[in-house]
Amino acid sequence: MINVEKFFSQLTNRLRASEVRELLKWGIKEKVISFGGGFPDPKLYPIREIVEITRDLILKYGHQVLQYGTTEGLDELREELLDFMARYGIEIPSLDNIMITSGSQQAIDIIGRIFIDPGDAIVVENPTYLAALNAFRLEAPKIYGVPIDSEGIRTDLLEELLIKLKKEGKRVKFLYTVPTAQNPTGITMSMRRRKELMELAEEYDFLIVEDNPYGYIMFEDVKFKHLKAMDNEGRVIHLSTFSKILVPGLRVGWVIADKRIIRKMVIAKQSLDICTSTLSQYLCYELLKRGVVDKQIKILPKYYKQKRDVMLKALEQYMPKGVSWTKPVGGLFIFLKCPKCIDTKVMLKKALEKGVAYVPGYAFYVNGSGRNTMRLNFSYPSEEEIKKGVSILAQVIKEELKMKIVAK
Ligand code: PMP
Repeated sequence: MINVEKFFSQLTNRLRASEVRELLKWGIKEKVISFGGGFPDPKLYPIREIVEITRDLILKYGHQVLQYGTTEGLDELREELLDFMARYGIEIPSLDNIMITSGSQQAIDIIGRIFIDPGDAIVVENPTYLAALNAFRLEAPKIYGVPIDSEGIRTDLLEELLIKLKKEGKRVKFLYTVPTAQNPTGITMSMRRRKELMELAEEYDFLIVEDNPYGYIMFEDVKFKHLKAMDNEGRVIHLSTFSKILVPGLRVGWVIADKRIIRKMVIAKQSLDICTSTLSQYLCYELLKRGVVDKQIKILPKYYKQKRDVMLKALEQYMPKGVSWTKPVGGLFIFLKCPKCIDTKVMLKKALEKGVAYVPGYAFYVNGSGRNTMRLNFSYPSEEEIKKGVSILAQVIKEELKMKIVAK
């Protein structure tokens, strides 16, 4: 056997497997109750509509829908998205300001490629979306994490960081944020913080990447504006996706940005996959046009709110003292904090053996802190599984705490 290691590039050596994906493999294999992934509930998938439309599309327009498409994406779909986004306060001036991507994950990857040179400063929320961290890390930037509290990113601490970096002669290229129903915490940035963030971006001249997969799944009547809707300068790059509101398997997302940025992103995408699946794009277009997406957006918040409430109630009922958690106003996740003596990565093995999976929180932190935290997903498991899973998890935590006390 040859030594293949020596052939890999430096970039490949920076590749990191996502903790979530590794865990999912395990969860599916071993039939544990999984609070791990960010899977939507398949019960909500509009299967019948997808079957009917796919059949229609292929039979009537097969030559077109099975053909390559343009890299920027299907015009009809982008037109439809123009109207769709306007309902969320985001005006798209022309089709030059919007492109289709193979899920938002591809947009994140492309953003890393087109903006980051090794050593460039970028800022993220701490904690933040793990797969964005992994994608950005490939380009070898210096990543600064700014803590969040119940109102979202701590703009006071962000300002301190920006002042410090300016003194050192460093500029931030962009700040990546999931401001609405964040992954992993479920926290939604307050309007006050959104305004402060936009002001800081202007003053210190950096771009903002606003990642918005969950803004359509809000449980409470929270008043907020997307950062893109507050952007008069073309500073915000807005990412969104059909993954959580329709199905993730179609792999269709979109980006709204200054047309000069879109142009570069399109060129970068050309060498990644030429175009996003034409069939998937036609399907999304039809599902939007026929009102299926609207119907989904009506159903989802109520359905997931119920599941969130079941999880919150179970946490209240089973968790020992010293454990706290976020109360998300939207999205798919609750973030849980154990007493400091618990390392959730170490504890994971025991939890899996007892039949429950979660994502250890340290993976979402830039600096590997948050070792006593974990992310819990409530959209995928059934209500029964949520109750059972939380009670098992609470037992695992109690045993871990007991062990620590004895060890002392
Ligand atoms: N951004 C965030 C914050 C996410 O949580 C996810 C999915 N878990 C993505 C992007 C990627 O989504 P997509 O399926 O559109 O690639």
